[in-house]
Amino acid sequence: SPIPDYLTKVLENARANDDGAPAAYIETLANADTSKMAVALATVDGKVYSAGDDQVEFSIQSISKAFVYALAIEDAGLSRVLEKIGVEPSGDKFNHLSLEKKTNRPMNPMINAGAITAHSLVVGPDATLEERTDRILNALSKLAGRQLHVDEEVYEAELRDADRNMAIGYMLKAAGIISCDPRVVVKGYIRQCAINVTVNDLAIMAATLCNAGVHPVTCERIMPQLSVRQVLSVMTTCGMYDAAGDWVSRVGFPAKSGVAGGIIGALPGQVGIAAFSPKLDERGNSVRGVIMCEQLSNDMGLHMMDVS
Ligand code: GLU
Repeated sequence: SPIPDYLTKVLENARANDDGAPAAYIETLANADTSKMAVALATVDGKVYSAGDDQVEFSIQSISKAFVYALAIEDAGLSRVLEKIGVEPSGDKFNHLSLEKKTNRPMNPMINAGAITAHSLVVGPDATLEERTDRILNALSKLAGRQLHVDEEVYEAELRDADRNMAIGYMLKAAGIISCDPRVVVKGYIRQCAINVTVNDLAIMAATLCNAGVHPVTCERIMPQLSVRQVLSVMTTCGMYDAAGDWVSRVGFPAKSGVAGGIIGALPGQVGIAAFSPKLDERGNSVRGVIMCEQLSNDMGLHMMDVS
């Protein structure tokens, strides 16, 4: 297949840009090897193509928010989730301390306030940290098609510097959005962010979203279609931090990025995309990851607003 050669070209083209810096606030990420980069595509019929450092693991970070939102919908039901978490893009930084004025809800599930709330809705309000993180780890492993693991070093490093996320947890408790101990929820959220993945894992996870919740390789239904629609909708409007509008107009498919340098893209009915490179722009998106996604979108006509 000519696809791996094409992906190598996309990768080398993006390598020319050396801008940005790895996330500074988590020590382990700050020391990441910035020469590593990779890209992968997974089709809805289960073929995976990749190039570059496709065996390198990195923490999933905020990309987990999309999948945990789906789990929250499955465990608590969509109407309860909508009572607790809005669906409006915030335009604020991902770790902004804010809630919607009228409803007290976090603006959306892709910013930390909403993601921490979504985490609290997995399993149920009385669940332990282990019950929630086991549920999440098992669900993400099923999506990836292999057993995933938490990177304990990343977890510990982020926990040492979790004041802001803890503050968000207490804000949610005070507002009546979460009812359980905020420290347990925030710790669980940080563990969820520290799950390690490769671009191949992410591409196949994204392809499950593209395939309406049916895993493209195992053909098992993993998520109900309604959850997938909800997840892809918030990825479209809120997935790329405060660069969501810029992303939709330039690249044009639902996406989610994470501070370790990963990005997933999911074009419904077609292809799941994953890119990785640790250096981030000022909004927190991988510089080379964005370049690779933009090139894939242009070359392959993946913009969802284009009529072919
Ligand atoms: N664990 C990170 C945090 O909450 C995730 C951030 C991200 O990937 O945007 O700060």
